[in-house]
Amino acid sequence: MAKINENYLKLQAGYLFPEIGRRVSEFVAANPDKKVIKMGIGDVTQPLVPSVVKAFHEGVDEMAKGETFKGYGPEQGYAFLREAIAKNAYQDNGIDISADDIFISDGSKCDTGNIQEIFGHDNKIAICDPVYPVYADTTVMSGKTGNYNSGYYEGIIYMPCTKENGFIPNLPTETPDLIFLCYPNNPMGTVATKEELKKWVDYAAENNSIILYDAAYEAFITEEGIPHSIYEIEGAKEVAIEFRSFSKTAGFTGTRCAFTVVPDELKAFDSSGKSVAVKPFWNRRQSTKFNGVSYPVQKAAAAVYTEEGKKEVTEVIAYYLENARIMKESLTEAGYEVFGGVNAPYIWVKTKNGMSSWDFFDKVLNEANVVGTPGSGFGPAGEGYFRFSAFADRESTMEAMERIKNLK
Ligand SMILES: *Cc1c(COP(=O)(O)O)cnc(C)c1O
Repeated sequence: MAKINENYLKLQAGYLFPEIGRRVSEFVAANPDKKVIKMGIGDVTQPLVPSVVKAFHEGVDEMAKGETFKGYGPEQGYAFLREAIAKNAYQDNGIDISADDIFISDGSKCDTGNIQEIFGHDNKIAICDPVYPVYADTTVMSGKTGNYNSGYYEGIIYMPCTKENGFIPNLPTETPDLIFLCYPNNPMGTVATKEELKKWVDYAAENNSIILYDAAYEAFITEEGIPHSIYEIEGAKEVAIEFRSFSKTAGFTGTRCAFTVVPDELKAFDSSGKSVAVKPFWNRRQSTKFNGVSYPVQKAAAAVYTEEGKKEVTEVIAYYLENARIMKESLTEAGYEVFGGVNAPYIWVKTKNGMSSWDFFDKVLNEANVVGTPGSGFGPAGEGYFRFSAFADRESTMEAMERIKNLK
């Protein structure tokens, strides 16, 4: 008899975005004349930049000729891309990461989900609340949790991030083995300073834990002194894996390319307490279950690091961040308490008078015809908050803010 992985039965049926979709469809059906502006889902809207498109085309042309055709590529990714990443994303910023530490993949969603496979079943996982749902759901799928209970899976250590702690979790009372951190943060749009990250690196070192650091929004950091990489913190190479993606950085959500950094110094432990290098495990996992990202896509990704590519990508990010600035200003003028949006494409808004996240969703949809994301959908500590994404175009962004300002 074929037995199903019953851990999947514990998962809350993808509730958040389907429920948003349902309420929006219902509204649109009842109000066909209203123009609904979508600022809910975290997906980019601006096209790939010219340098990327040119390299992408060149890659396809190479595949079309016998002399330059390529079959399977190196499993860890092409050296030209890994070297461009090591130099531009790390070494040029004084961070000692080599091409050999970098594993190219088709997405950070996949990598942050798959990474747990190389760690033992009895690891305790800590995640922030609210949080990007992938970390919790993949923990459930891997069988490390009990059932779902009023917003929480049994067996996961939840670390609330609220206004009171500046959206940086307090060190947990129960010691985790693996700690997911994401800065700049989705959904809250907030960042962590060097001092705050150092606290986590030191904690991981003291407790033999590993930090799984999601830096998908690194390129949106505008303020001086905010770390772009966890490896800016001394000792992080011993305790952290970093995930980065071209998705939000360069509009690759539909093109697919990302990378994960696993330094040689990173160690985990076997059941006898002996330390084991983690990198060969990830290498083995990837080379067994993954056959690489297509050559034209890797070539397109490498173009992000050319002189022109950098300039063009920076302009697109500046466009989204200008949206964020406009949103932050308008929402503040409208009397809302607003967080994030300076070093991230998300604005985290506190609802007024303790209104629930879903009530605010309905109000904004019905009265302003704008779609956002209820904070409670990212975890119980997000209740009373609301996420707006800055990825819409400028005109829609401005119109949406005008409408929200005019809300009664
Ligand atoms: C968008 C996003 C990613 C990127 O995922 P990809 O699979 O690379 O597209 C990773 N982490 C967070 C928190 C995100 O919001």
